[in-house]
Amino acid sequence: MQRTLYWVTKDLRISDNLALELASQSEQLICVAVIDPEWFKINQQQAIPLGKKRFNFLLQGLQALNKSLHKLGQQLHIINGNTVNTLNAICDQFDITDLVVTKRPGAYERDIISNIQHKKPQLNLHQVQQFTLFTEKMLPFSLAELPASYSKFRKVVADITANSPATATYHLPPQFSQPIAECHDYWNEGVTKKIILEDTENQHQQRGYEFTGGEQAGFEHLQQYFSSLAPARYKEVRNKLDGWDNSSKLSAWINYGFISVKQVMNCINEFEQLHGKNASTESLYHEILWREYFQWLHYKVQDKLYHFKGLAPSAPLTSFYPERFKKWCTASTPFPLVNACMTELFETGYLSNRGRQIVASCLVNELSIDWRYGAAWFEQHLIDYDAAINWGNWQYIAGVGVDPRGGRHFNLKKQTQIHDPDGEYQTTWAGHHNHQTDSPLDSVSADDWPVK
Ligand SMILES: Cc1cc2nc3c(=O)[nH]c(=O)nc-3n(C[C@H](O)[C@H](O)[C@H](O)COP(=O)(O)OP(=O)(O)OC[C@H]3O[C@@H](n4cnc5c(N)ncnc54)[C@H](O)[C@@H]3O)c2cc1C
Repeated sequence: MQRTLYWVTKDLRISDNLALELASQSEQLICVAVIDPEWFKINQQQAIPLGKKRFNFLLQGLQALNKSLHKLGQQLHIINGNTVNTLNAICDQFDITDLVVTKRPGAYERDIISNIQHKKPQLNLHQVQQFTLFTEKMLPFSLAELPASYSKFRKVVADITANSPATATYHLPPQFSQPIAECHDYWNEGVTKKIILEDTENQHQQRGYEFTGGEQAGFEHLQQYFSSLAPARYKEVRNKLDGWDNSSKLSAWINYGFISVKQVMNCINEFEQLHGKNASTESLYHEILWREYFQWLHYKVQDKLYHFKGLAPSAPLTSFYPERFKKWCTASTPFPLVNACMTELFETGYLSNRGRQIVASCLVNELSIDWRYGAAWFEQHLIDYDAAINWGNWQYIAGVGVDPRGGRHFNLKKQTQIHDPDGEYQTTWAGHHNHQTDSPLDSVSADDWPVK
């Protein structure tokens, strides 16, 4: 008898979910999501991999998926524990024959899978490719031959058409009759609700940014964006620092898989059929392709995505300066525009693409700090964090990634003149931090003498 464990990760939806569809063909099924305590431990770059805002977003989405699964006669078991041990124990308890999971490029995911494979060689492992727009087979090159720059990649994939989103799975096999072993720290709805409620203080600080986890919320946002005319002027406004409609704000829902990237693509196509294709709709598609490129790049370069020297022949000349880094994190640098962006990120869990570029460039160029500290800070605070996109973009700006120009330095004065000439954005995001923009960058000189 086929007894399947569906390990739910960043595919938290019912519709267009090929992993769930595959799992539904089994005779018995258990759906499990694991919250790993590792995600909350301070890492080498002094950050916590999963910050409060994204954690809340995730919990909301897990609750929502549980409700949807209930309607289909199933449920989502949310377990707090070490991922490998938890999955192994469940395989043992239910005599699991098949493990289904959505395939993703991250080193963390790869390690877990190979660990399980090592411990359970007889288990049939199904890694479903649906985190990207295309599957590996659809690519007109092997991973080893992935183009070295995004522009080349875009040209090569220009003729590929993504598959249409799949229709929803309506019939799921029954659950196992015995309950899950009591040794697990099982998080029922009460536990997840309590955690979300405890964070309401942070929620009201989001100032109109409406990131609610869940398939329904994601789908509603998708519909709302594409039923407006905003996609038709995307290209003209996407670089603006502020404004909910100036970009799609889909990233967080895409990255947790509340909506699939194919569903987004479908909406772009439908919008173009209705309103015509223009430079903006094309530009939106090009951004989706940037996401795609970084995912395949991660598959190709693997752990190099996290290395200081990245894909470059030699490491950058930056280092770690605790005082400067603290000023960057607490929005207290001598650069008001950077401080405003950092405040927005901290308070809302979101920052526009241009804002991200500005603060990343500042960290690397003005502050001469090792880019990985900035990437890790983003990982903690962004609701839309994605390993491939985040670390890939940071490498790009630090000049150790796929930028053919060898890194980007954004002129802060010029950026302020272009994007915030009247200081409106800086006033909005003045925050409650004590900005000391007139103080020097360092309080001591290189040979430890007080500056001033
Ligand atoms: C230093 C830095 C770190 C970043 N970290 C992340 C991250 O962790 N997660 C993340 O999703 N994006 C990241 N981005 C990319 C980009 O800033 C966000 O995807 C975008 O701002 C999200 O807002 P949106 O959904 O409104 O994007 P839109 O402008 O509406 O774009 C549509 C979609 O295209 C994709 N996209 C847009 N810009 C990029 C880009 N530069 N690279 C790859 N894909 C892109 C996203 O999936 C996005 O949702 C980072 C950019 C920089 C410069």
